[in-house]
Amino acid sequence: MRLKTAQAKGQGKKRPEQVGVRMIAEFIAKNRVVPSDCLYHTNRSSLNRHGKSSGSIRVLVLKKDNIARSEYVCPECGHKGYEESAWKRPFYAKCEKCGFRISVPKLKEQIKKEMKAGK
Ligand SMILES: [Zn+2]
Repeated sequence: MRLKTAQAKGQGKKRPEQVGVRMIAEFIAKNRVVPSDCLYHTNRSSLNRHGKSSGSIRVLVLKKDNIARSEYVCPECGHKGYEESAWKRPFYAKCEKCGFRISVPKLKEQIKKEMKAGK
């Protein structure tokens, strides 16, 4: 018998830390990627169509191949996925389940917000 109560409790409280996708972490460990190898590397929360932060996206681009490896938790449907695509900006990953474009918030804007929050 499965505990259905525990599942119901967790709904609406999904945290990015609970992400089950670890493709990029594994890739980094396997290839011994160091920061100087990276053209771009980010790990952010991502926004759904209402501007609410309910998913996450991590993107890694190596200088040598210019390929964006991205793993995400879709903020719209909660799907966890991984994709590799050509690196371009502005960058977004497309949810393979619902087709939502998961964009990476602009770093400058995020920093401004954090500074306003008193950091
Ligand atoms: Zn989705």
